[in-house]
Amino acid sequence: LAQLFRPLDMLGMVYRTIRQGLIDMAAMFNLIDTNAEVVDVPNAQPLIVSEGRVKFDNVRFGYESGRPILKGVSFLVPGGKTLAIVGPSGAGKSTIARLLFRFYDVSGGSISIDGQDIGRVQQRTLRANIGIVPQDTVLFNDTIGYNIGYGRAGATQDEIEAAAQGAAIHGFVSKLPEGYRSQVGERGLKLSGGEKQRVAIARTLLKDPPILILDEATSALDSRTESAIQRTLRDVSERRTTIVIAHRLSTIVDADEIVVLNEGRVAERGTHASLLRQGGLYAEMWARQAAEAEMAEA
Ligand code: ATP
Repeated sequence: LAQLFRPLDMLGMVYRTIRQGLIDMAAMFNLIDTNAEVVDVPNAQPLIVSEGRVKFDNVRFGYESGRPILKGVSFLVPGGKTLAIVGPSGAGKSTIARLLFRFYDVSGGSISIDGQDIGRVQQRTLRANIGIVPQDTVLFNDTIGYNIGYGRAGATQDEIEAAAQGAAIHGFVSKLPEGYRSQVGERGLKLSGGEKQRVAIARTLLKDPPILILDEATSALDSRTESAIQRTLRDVSERRTTIVIAHRLSTIVDADEIVVLNEGRVAERGTHASLLRQGGLYAEMWARQAAEAEMAEA
Protein backbone atom coordinates (compact mmCIF):
# COMPACT_ATOMS: atom_id res chain seq x y z
CA LEU A 1 0.00 0.00 0.00
CA ALA A 2 2.86 2.34 0.85
CA GLN A 3 4.12 1.90 -2.68
CA LEU A 4 0.79 3.02 -3.98
CA PHE A 5 0.80 6.14 -1.86
CA ARG A 6 4.30 7.28 -2.73
CA PRO A 7 3.40 8.30 -6.31
CA LEU A 8 0.25 9.96 -5.00
CA ASP A 9 2.34 11.91 -2.52
CA MET A 10 4.63 12.94 -5.35
CA LEU A 11 1.67 14.07 -7.41
CA GLY A 12 0.43 16.13 -4.49
CA MET A 13 3.83 17.75 -4.21
CA VAL A 14 4.01 18.48 -7.92
CA TYR A 15 0.51 19.94 -7.79
CA ARG A 16 1.39 22.17 -4.84
CA THR A 17 4.58 23.32 -6.53
CA ILE A 18 2.78 24.22 -9.74
CA ARG A 19 -0.10 25.89 -7.98
CA GLN A 20 2.16 28.00 -5.79
CA GLY A 21 4.29 28.86 -8.78
CA LEU A 22 1.23 30.18 -10.52
CA ILE A 23 0.02 32.12 -7.51
CA ASP A 24 3.41 33.73 -7.18
CA MET A 25 3.77 34.61 -10.84
CA ALA A 26 0.24 35.92 -11.01
CA ALA A 27 0.88 38.14 -8.05
CA MET A 28 4.18 39.31 -9.47
CA PHE A 29 2.61 40.67 -12.54
CA ASN A 30 -0.88 41.44 -11.26
CA LEU A 31 -2.16 38.88 -13.68
CA ILE A 32 -5.60 37.61 -13.05
CA ASP A 33 -5.46 34.94 -15.67
CA THR A 34 -2.30 33.78 -17.36
CA ASN A 35 -2.65 33.59 -21.07
CA ALA A 36 -3.44 30.00 -21.99
CA GLU A 37 -2.47 30.59 -25.61
CA VAL A 38 1.21 30.76 -24.84
CA VAL A 39 2.41 27.21 -25.38
CA ASP A 40 5.65 25.59 -26.49
CA VAL A 41 6.08 25.25 -30.25
CA PRO A 42 6.53 21.66 -31.47
CA ASN A 43 10.11 20.52 -30.84
CA ALA A 44 10.88 23.55 -28.71
CA GLN A 45 14.50 23.49 -27.59
CA PRO A 46 15.79 24.29 -24.13
CA LEU A 47 17.09 27.83 -23.70
CA ILE A 48 20.83 27.80 -23.24
CA VAL A 49 22.15 30.92 -21.57
CA SER A 50 25.80 31.72 -22.07
CA GLU A 51 26.28 35.47 -21.65
CA GLY A 52 22.67 36.41 -20.88
CA ARG A 53 22.35 38.96 -23.67
CA VAL A 54 18.75 40.18 -23.97
CA LYS A 55 17.55 41.72 -27.20
CA PHE A 56 14.22 43.34 -28.04
CA ASP A 57 13.98 43.86 -31.78
CA ASN A 58 11.17 46.10 -33.01
CA VAL A 59 8.72 44.52 -30.52
CA ARG A 60 5.06 45.26 -31.04
CA PHE A 61 2.33 44.22 -28.66
CA GLY A 62 -1.18 45.04 -27.47
CA TYR A 63 -3.41 43.28 -24.95
CA GLU A 64 -6.45 44.01 -27.06
CA SER A 65 -6.66 44.37 -30.80
CA GLY A 66 -6.80 47.96 -31.92
CA ARG A 67 -4.98 49.23 -28.82
CA PRO A 68 -1.23 48.87 -29.32
CA ILE A 69 0.84 49.22 -26.16
CA LEU A 70 4.35 48.67 -27.55
CA LYS A 71 4.84 50.16 -30.99
CA GLY A 72 8.23 48.87 -32.12
CA VAL A 73 10.53 48.76 -29.10
CA SER A 74 14.20 47.87 -29.57
CA PHE A 75 17.05 47.63 -27.07
CA LEU A 76 19.98 45.40 -26.29
CA VAL A 77 21.22 44.49 -22.82
CA PRO A 78 24.70 42.96 -23.06
CA GLY A 79 25.34 40.03 -20.72
CA GLY A 80 25.83 41.13 -17.12
CA LYS A 81 24.78 44.75 -17.76
CA THR A 82 21.91 46.73 -16.28
CA LEU A 83 19.18 48.40 -18.30
CA ALA A 84 16.67 50.64 -16.59
CA ILE A 85 13.28 51.35 -18.10
CA VAL A 86 11.55 54.53 -17.06
CA GLY A 87 8.61 56.50 -18.35
CA PRO A 88 5.17 57.77 -17.41
CA SER A 89 2.61 55.49 -15.83
CA GLY A 90 0.98 53.29 -18.46
CA ALA A 91 3.87 53.67 -20.91
CA GLY A 92 4.31 49.89 -21.09
CA LYS A 93 7.23 49.27 -18.72
CA SER A 94 5.78 46.25 -16.90
CA THR A 95 4.52 44.94 -20.23
CA ILE A 96 8.15 44.59 -21.32
CA ALA A 97 8.85 42.40 -18.29
CA ARG A 98 5.76 40.29 -18.93
CA LEU A 99 6.81 39.72 -22.54
CA LEU A 100 10.35 38.73 -21.54
CA PHE A 101 8.88 36.14 -19.18
CA ARG A 102 6.63 35.15 -22.06
CA PHE A 103 3.31 35.62 -20.35
CA TYR A 104 2.21 36.85 -23.75
CA ASP A 105 3.59 36.46 -27.24
CA VAL A 106 4.70 39.52 -29.17
CA SER A 107 2.56 40.48 -32.13
CA GLY A 108 5.52 41.77 -34.15
CA GLY A 109 9.30 41.76 -33.91
CA SER A 110 11.15 39.41 -31.60
CA ILE A 111 12.74 38.95 -28.21
CA SER A 112 15.87 36.85 -27.95
CA ILE A 113 18.27 35.69 -25.28
CA ASP A 114 21.76 34.87 -26.48
CA GLY A 115 20.41 34.71 -30.02
CA GLN A 116 17.55 32.31 -29.25
CA ASP A 117 14.03 33.56 -29.95
CA ILE A 118 12.16 33.16 -26.65
CA GLY A 119 9.00 32.21 -28.54
CA ARG A 120 10.76 29.09 -29.80
CA VAL A 121 12.34 27.74 -26.60
CA GLN A 122 10.80 25.63 -23.86
CA GLN A 123 8.95 28.01 -21.54
CA ARG A 124 10.10 26.08 -18.51
CA THR A 125 13.75 26.68 -19.35
CA LEU A 126 13.06 30.34 -20.15
CA ARG A 127 11.45 30.94 -16.78
CA ALA A 128 14.11 28.96 -14.94
CA ASN A 129 16.70 31.44 -16.19
CA ILE A 130 14.87 34.60 -15.18
CA GLY A 131 14.44 35.78 -11.61
CA ILE A 132 11.98 38.46 -10.62
CA VAL A 133 11.97 40.69 -7.60
CA PRO A 134 8.37 41.88 -7.82
CA GLN A 135 6.71 45.04 -6.54
CA ASP A 136 4.75 43.08 -3.98
CA THR A 137 5.94 39.80 -2.59
CA VAL A 138 3.39 37.18 -1.72
CA LEU A 139 4.10 35.42 1.55
CA PHE A 140 2.67 32.04 2.36
CA ASN A 141 1.17 31.19 5.74
CA ASP A 142 4.18 29.15 6.64
CA THR A 143 7.55 29.64 8.30
CA ILE A 144 9.97 32.36 7.23
CA GLY A 145 12.40 29.57 6.31
CA TYR A 146 9.82 28.06 3.96
CA ASN A 147 9.09 31.44 2.44
CA ILE A 148 12.76 31.98 1.62
CA GLY A 149 13.46 28.38 0.60
CA TYR A 150 10.60 28.63 -1.84
CA GLY A 151 13.08 30.17 -4.27
CA ARG A 152 14.46 26.74 -5.01
CA ALA A 153 12.87 23.36 -4.29
CA GLY A 154 15.13 21.21 -2.13
CA ALA A 155 17.29 24.05 -0.76
CA THR A 156 19.07 23.07 2.45
CA GLN A 157 18.91 25.10 5.66
CA ASP A 158 22.51 26.25 5.09
CA GLU A 159 21.65 27.46 1.60
CA ILE A 160 18.56 29.24 2.91
CA GLU A 161 20.63 31.01 5.55
CA ALA A 162 23.31 31.98 3.03
CA ALA A 163 20.64 33.50 0.77
CA ALA A 164 19.13 35.31 3.74
CA GLN A 165 22.57 36.68 4.52
CA GLY A 166 23.00 37.87 0.94
CA ALA A 167 19.64 39.62 1.19
CA ALA A 168 20.58 41.09 4.58
CA ILE A 169 17.65 39.53 6.41
CA HIS A 170 19.51 36.80 8.29
CA GLY A 171 20.16 39.07 11.28
CA PHE A 172 16.47 39.92 11.54
CA VAL A 173 15.38 36.27 11.30
CA SER A 174 17.98 35.04 13.80
CA LYS A 175 16.65 37.44 16.41
CA LEU A 176 13.10 36.08 16.18
CA PRO A 177 12.29 33.77 19.12
CA GLU A 178 11.71 30.86 16.77
CA GLY A 179 14.25 31.87 14.13
CA TYR A 180 13.65 30.39 10.70
CA ARG A 181 10.71 28.42 12.12
CA SER A 182 8.73 31.58 12.89
CA GLN A 183 5.34 31.65 11.23
CA VAL A 184 4.63 34.56 8.90
CA GLY A 185 1.54 35.70 7.05
CA GLU A 186 -2.02 36.12 8.22
CA ARG A 187 -1.68 33.98 11.32
CA GLY A 188 1.88 34.92 12.19
CA LEU A 189 4.39 37.65 12.01
CA LYS A 190 3.61 40.56 9.71
CA LEU A 191 6.63 41.68 7.74
CA SER A 192 7.25 45.28 6.71
CA GLY A 193 7.50 46.24 3.03
CA GLY A 194 11.29 46.27 3.23
CA GLU A 195 11.45 42.87 4.95
CA LYS A 196 9.14 41.37 2.34
CA GLN A 197 11.36 42.71 -0.39
CA ARG A 198 14.34 41.10 1.30
CA VAL A 199 12.51 37.77 1.31
CA ALA A 200 12.03 38.19 -2.44
CA ILE A 201 15.72 39.00 -2.87
CA ALA A 202 16.71 35.93 -0.83
CA ARG A 203 14.44 33.74 -2.98
CA THR A 204 16.12 35.13 -6.09
CA LEU A 205 19.57 34.45 -4.66
CA LEU A 206 18.55 30.83 -4.13
CA LYS A 207 17.25 30.57 -7.67
CA ASP A 208 20.51 32.17 -8.87
CA PRO A 209 19.27 33.12 -12.36
CA PRO A 210 21.54 34.72 -14.98
CA ILE A 211 18.81 37.24 -15.88
CA LEU A 212 17.03 39.41 -13.38
CA ILE A 213 13.96 41.65 -13.54
CA LEU A 214 13.56 44.15 -10.75
CA ASP A 215 10.10 45.64 -10.64
CA GLU A 216 10.44 48.59 -8.33
CA ALA A 217 7.59 49.29 -5.95
CA THR A 218 5.65 52.47 -6.70
CA SER A 219 5.33 53.39 -3.05
CA ALA A 220 8.61 54.40 -1.53
CA LEU A 221 9.96 52.80 1.62
CA ASP A 222 11.50 55.13 4.17
CA SER A 223 14.72 56.48 2.74
CA ARG A 224 17.11 54.55 5.02
CA THR A 225 15.47 51.20 4.27
CA GLU A 226 15.30 52.19 0.63
CA SER A 227 19.01 52.88 0.29
CA ALA A 228 19.89 49.70 2.22
CA ILE A 229 17.69 47.69 -0.18
CA GLN A 230 19.25 49.44 -3.15
CA ARG A 231 22.71 48.42 -1.96
CA THR A 232 21.58 44.81 -1.62
CA LEU A 233 20.00 44.88 -5.07
CA ARG A 234 23.18 46.27 -6.57
CA ASP A 235 25.10 43.31 -5.12
CA VAL A 236 22.52 40.85 -6.42
CA SER A 237 22.52 42.30 -9.93
CA GLU A 238 26.30 42.26 -10.16
CA ARG A 239 27.33 39.87 -12.94
CA ARG A 240 23.69 39.25 -13.97
CA THR A 241 21.85 40.80 -16.85
CA THR A 242 19.37 43.07 -15.09
CA ILE A 243 16.32 44.95 -16.26
CA VAL A 244 15.03 47.45 -13.73
CA ILE A 245 11.55 48.83 -14.08
CA ALA A 246 12.00 52.05 -12.21
CA HIS A 247 9.63 54.59 -10.79
CA ARG A 248 12.15 56.60 -8.85
CA LEU A 249 14.98 57.88 -11.01
CA SER A 250 17.30 58.22 -8.02
CA THR A 251 17.60 54.42 -7.88
CA ILE A 252 18.92 54.00 -11.42
CA VAL A 253 21.53 56.72 -11.91
CA ASP A 254 24.23 54.02 -12.15
CA ALA A 255 22.47 51.87 -14.79
CA ASP A 256 24.59 51.07 -17.87
CA GLU A 257 21.75 52.31 -20.05
CA ILE A 258 18.42 53.97 -19.41
CA VAL A 259 15.55 53.67 -21.84
CA VAL A 260 12.77 56.23 -21.62
CA LEU A 261 9.53 54.75 -22.79
CA ASN A 262 6.71 57.02 -23.84
CA GLU A 263 3.44 55.97 -25.44
CA GLY A 264 4.86 52.59 -26.42
CA ARG A 265 8.02 53.91 -28.05
CA VAL A 266 11.59 54.48 -26.93
CA ALA A 267 11.65 58.26 -26.68
CA GLU A 268 15.22 58.63 -25.37
CA ARG A 269 18.11 56.42 -24.37
CA GLY A 270 21.50 56.87 -22.76
CA THR A 271 23.22 57.09 -19.41
CA HIS A 272 21.89 59.28 -16.63
CA ALA A 273 24.43 62.00 -17.41
CA SER A 274 23.86 61.98 -21.17
CA LEU A 275 20.08 62.03 -20.73
CA LEU A 276 20.31 65.02 -18.42
CA ARG A 277 22.43 66.79 -21.03
CA GLN A 278 19.82 66.06 -23.71
CA GLY A 279 17.36 68.16 -21.73
CA GLY A 280 14.35 66.13 -22.88
CA LEU A 281 11.72 64.00 -21.17
CA TYR A 282 14.20 62.36 -18.77
CA ALA A 283 15.67 65.68 -17.68
CA GLU A 284 12.13 66.93 -17.10
CA MET A 285 11.21 63.85 -15.03
CA TRP A 286 14.42 64.22 -13.03
CA ALA A 287 13.74 67.88 -12.25
CA ARG A 288 10.18 67.05 -11.23
CA GLN A 289 11.23 64.22 -8.90
CA ALA A 290 13.97 66.34 -7.36
CA ALA A 291 11.46 69.11 -6.66
CA GLU A 292 9.04 66.58 -5.13
CA ALA A 293 11.79 65.15 -2.91
CA GLU A 294 12.64 68.67 -1.70
CA MET A 295 8.98 69.36 -0.93
CA ALA A 296 8.74 66.11 1.02
CA GLU A 297 11.78 67.02 3.10
CA ALA A 298 10.61 70.55 3.85
P1 ATP B 1 3.10 51.86 -14.26
O1 ATP B 1 4.30 52.76 -14.18
O2 ATP B 1 1.87 52.60 -13.85
O3 ATP B 1 3.28 50.55 -13.57
P2 ATP B 1 3.63 50.72 -16.89
O4 ATP B 1 4.45 51.62 -17.74
O5 ATP B 1 4.33 49.59 -16.23
O6 ATP B 1 2.84 51.58 -15.83
P3 ATP B 1 1.98 48.67 -18.11
O7 ATP B 1 1.59 48.00 -16.85
O8 ATP B 1 3.00 48.04 -18.97
O9 ATP B 1 2.46 50.19 -17.80
O10 ATP B 1 0.66 48.94 -18.94
C1 ATP B 1 0.65 49.58 -20.20
C2 ATP B 1 -0.77 49.72 -20.68
O11 ATP B 1 -1.34 48.44 -20.88
C3 ATP B 1 -1.69 50.45 -19.71
O12 ATP B 1 -2.48 51.32 -20.44
C4 ATP B 1 -2.54 49.35 -19.13
O13 ATP B 1 -3.82 49.83 -18.86
C5 ATP B 1 -2.57 48.31 -20.22
N1 ATP B 1 -2.68 46.93 -19.67
C6 ATP B 1 -1.87 46.38 -18.76
N2 ATP B 1 -2.23 45.11 -18.50
C7 ATP B 1 -3.31 44.85 -19.26
C8 ATP B 1 -4.17 43.72 -19.44
N3 ATP B 1 -3.96 42.58 -18.78
N4 ATP B 1 -5.19 43.84 -20.30
C9 ATP B 1 -5.42 45.00 -20.98
N5 ATP B 1 -4.65 46.09 -20.85
C10 ATP B 1 -3.62 46.04 -20.01
